[in-house]
Amino acid sequence: DSEADSVDSLEGIESKHKLKILPEDSSYDLSFKLIVIGDIYVGKSCLTNKAVKNVFSDEYCNTIGFEYFTFTIKVDNKIIRLQIWDTCGQEMYRSLITNFYRNTSLAIIVYAINNYKSFESIDSWLKELRKNGNPDVKIFLIGNKADLEEERKVSKELGTKFYQDNKMNGFMEASAKTGLNAKKIFV
Ligand code: GDP
Ligand code: MG
Repeated sequence: DSEADSVDSLEGIESKHKLKILPEDSSYDLSFKLIVIGDIYVGKSCLTNKAVKNVFSDEYCNTIGFEYFTFTIKVDNKIIRLQIWDTCGQEMYRSLITNFYRNTSLAIIVYAINNYKSFESIDSWLKELRKNGNPDVKIFLIGNKADLEEERKVSKELGTKFYQDNKMNGFMEASAKTGLNAKKIFV
């Protein structure tokens, strides 16, 4: 919808880097593996679906193990494909996820701003990733469900502080529901 488009504006970066989102099946020059991790129910699957397919569902869809997406963009005349692995945050899958850390270039760790426990979990997700992943992995922290302002339990300042203190590579609040920053995260 139009609200979703206006809150996920790529203005500025779009013109600076001659950036363009391409169809999924485009050929590419470079590809990077990206893993999406975080507690169950924080909106990892919704955020990925919103960014890649521009759809949002209120229903909870239980990801079994992993779901695979691609996101292809042209940046400064190079076509880059992200191979996105959306994981399931259930305990029983966490050892499986560990195997995925090894050769991933990018990681997005998601919490929900209305769920303090999911924010507290970031620390253990980050530790597992740093312990098992490649030393150059770029890690981004995302506070999802930013549309639920009235239920907020984690301030934006707290998110910002965590990302700075832990030397992560970026932080954004987002909403899979309104589309706020959904595409921007992956761009
Ligand atoms: P996952 O377990 O992390 O993959 O979580 P899901 O993507 O399946 O989302 C869990 C629930 O949260 C679903 O009911 C979604 O509709 C809801 N949800 C996800 N993102 C948002 C958001 O940005 N805002 C709101 N209000 N609800 C969301
Ligand atoms: Mg999921």
